[in-house]
Amino acid sequence: MELQSNASRVHASSSRPRISIDVPVARTVSNSRQADLTVGFLIVGGGIAGLATAYALAAAGHRVHVLERSSGLHQPAGGIRIPPNCTKVLAQWGLLEELARRGSPCPVSKLLDLHTGESLGVTDWHRDLVKEMGEAYYMVHHQDLHEILFDLAVSAGVRVSFSTTVEAVTPPRDAVQSSVDATTLSTIIPSTSRPSVTLASGETLHADVVIGADGPYSMVRRVVAERMEERRSGLCVYSGTLSTSEMRADPRLQSLLEEGWPMFLGNQRSIIGYPIRNDQEFAIHIWWDEDDPNTSDTWTPTVHVSSLPGYSSADIDPRARIMLDKVGLLSRMSFVDRDRPESWIDRSERVALIGEAAHPIMPCNHHSAAISIEDAAVFGTLFSHLHSHAQISTLLYGFQDLRQPRATALNLIELHNASVALSGKRPLHHTMEDQWAEVAEVWGYDANDAAEEWWMQWGVLRERAEATSAQ
Ligand SMILES: Cc1cc2nc3c(=O)[nH]c(=O)nc-3n(C[C@H](O)[C@H](O)[C@H](O)COP(=O)(O)OP(=O)(O)OC[C@H]3O[C@@H](n4cnc5c(N)ncnc54)[C@H](O)[C@@H]3O)c2cc1C
Repeated sequence: MELQSNASRVHASSSRPRISIDVPVARTVSNSRQADLTVGFLIVGGGIAGLATAYALAAAGHRVHVLERSSGLHQPAGGIRIPPNCTKVLAQWGLLEELARRGSPCPVSKLLDLHTGESLGVTDWHRDLVKEMGEAYYMVHHQDLHEILFDLAVSAGVRVSFSTTVEAVTPPRDAVQSSVDATTLSTIIPSTSRPSVTLASGETLHADVVIGADGPYSMVRRVVAERMEERRSGLCVYSGTLSTSEMRADPRLQSLLEEGWPMFLGNQRSIIGYPIRNDQEFAIHIWWDEDDPNTSDTWTPTVHVSSLPGYSSADIDPRARIMLDKVGLLSRMSFVDRDRPESWIDRSERVALIGEAAHPIMPCNHHSAAISIEDAAVFGTLFSHLHSHAQISTLLYGFQDLRQPRATALNLIELHNASVALSGKRPLHHTMEDQWAEVAEVWGYDANDAAEEWWMQWGVLRERAEATSAQ
């Protein structure tokens, strides 16, 4: 009840005109299974999750329109990590060459004491070992990943509208009867049986399914879940980049480039750096105390490193300081522990969440992009089996069943890694071999296989059960 009243309140606040525009016709993408029934999706948010999901759905033969409030690509940001489980999906989508061209593989990371610079150990991301897991570990610039996914989605027939802010999402008033079904039904379903979004321009768009891929501050989540509580951790992640030629020119920084990807670990503070853009740039993430919890988060680099609380007198390794002084401006994201919605699907079963809207995660971690891209692959693979409108709910719940445990597990691993990195103590794990079990489970995951297995085990079973009960 509360969910519906939330939705209608959001909608009622808009007195602008309602215009219904349909989503575009998808182009066929080779090498992908095409769903027997094509439906229309509106995706709120054209970040990593939104564009990846848009591609996966278009590749499965669906019509997809992405609504993104920013004005276009090339939003300033920093580095983002692509672990092998994510590389695997991108490789299945034919993006390996592009990823290798724009990213940097990273075989070794060197753990260092933030205060003394003393070596604490090495994590060896050995290529052969990584290959065992499926694919390599890459580091890329967020802009590059965004651009690669945009090009892919558009080439598959996805329509992307920039400068398009969604103000409200309205679930369908009348649920479609699951017994009613026909391959041409989408053309005759009344608009009250389809969810809609209201744009800041006043337009209203309808689709068969609305997906909220609108990030950690999701507005679509208000339609799906009760108010989520959040707790600030007192830490922020600051991100920036500098050119590797500038680092190479300074003999004091050469060791940071040559000995591997530096991870400076300290007490409640940590700094990591890694190469991106074919080793032309170096991405930096700094976990540091939050000075003012009321300062707003931004991915746009606007904070100077000298304004980090206590920076000038902080006891940090001179190499780390020299490196940070060269970075200049940083983006700033608070590290917030947010409640996760119990359900990612609204009561009408036609509005769903994906990416950080469904499962917010600490900014700038190993799996920031990976979870969203895995989500997209699972969503697309499940919806490649669509052959009836009645099945939409089943596939949405299949998505949730598969992805909730995985997202929770990855989040816990990230929290554990962060607590080790910020504990100021020598980490227990020094080699890849020590972490083998965790690595195999996390990196060995194949999102497409997981979706196919779910379909064989549950999807087909439910179909048979429904067919039997209908007889
Ligand atoms: C501009 C930007 C830069 C980033 N840079 C980095 C980085 O350098 N390193 C890193 O590790 N992570 C970065 N991230 C975060 C990273 O993208 C996410 O952690 C992860 O990939 C999951 O992405 P998401 O698509 O679920 O959410 P997000 O990446 O937050 O994307 C959500 C998208 O929805 C759009 N949106 C939100 N509300 C509305 C609305 N009402 N109507 C229309 N559109 C809406 C936003 O503009 C955004 O593009 C960045 C995110 C953004 C938005």
